[in-house]
Amino acid sequence: MNDIPVIITRRRTSRITIRITKDGQVRVSAPRLVPRSTIEKFVAEHRDWIEKHLDKTAARQQKREEFYAGLDISTPKLRKEAVGKLDAIVAPLVEKYSEQMGVKPSGIFYRATKSRWGSCNAKTRRINFSLYLLLLPDWCIEHIVVHELAHLKEPNHGPRFYAIMDKYFPRWKEARKETAI
Ligand SMILES: [Zn+2]
Repeated sequence: MNDIPVIITRRRTSRITIRITKDGQVRVSAPRLVPRSTIEKFVAEHRDWIEKHLDKTAARQQKREEFYAGLDISTPKLRKEAVGKLDAIVAPLVEKYSEQMGVKPSGIFYRATKSRWGSCNAKTRRINFSLYLLLLPDWCIEHIVVHELAHLKEPNHGPRFYAIMDKYFPRWKEARKETAI
């Protein structure tokens, strides 16, 4: 049919849909009773669209990889140095904003996370920060610190959450744009 590998999933749906995943897989979802030939025809008809999006995804993926390659934490020694460097920036910010916001995290941890800059467990009050924050300008690191601390007041990203951000870090929208990768 064509040389693009496609993963087909049968679903309780009324139409065929195609989507490209972040890592460049072409996934087709189709109604259970539609014959395979119909699906193949549909995919062939959307070949241009698929190729265009695969190119875009590959370019974005490469950009991401180049960005993360900017921080070398391939050995325990380098990793330890990165943790020390980031902690020297983050710990004072956590202290400053914890006091201003009236929150108290139970612990701060650093991990080599690429999927997100930080995370906060509202129950245990533990906050994780990505070591790759070191690749961002200081004011963007500050934004992530405030964002995670804000989750200690409000776990969800609702209007209440953004009201807290408006109060303690008014440039949050600008920072969020800057750190979208
Ligand atoms: Zn959040």
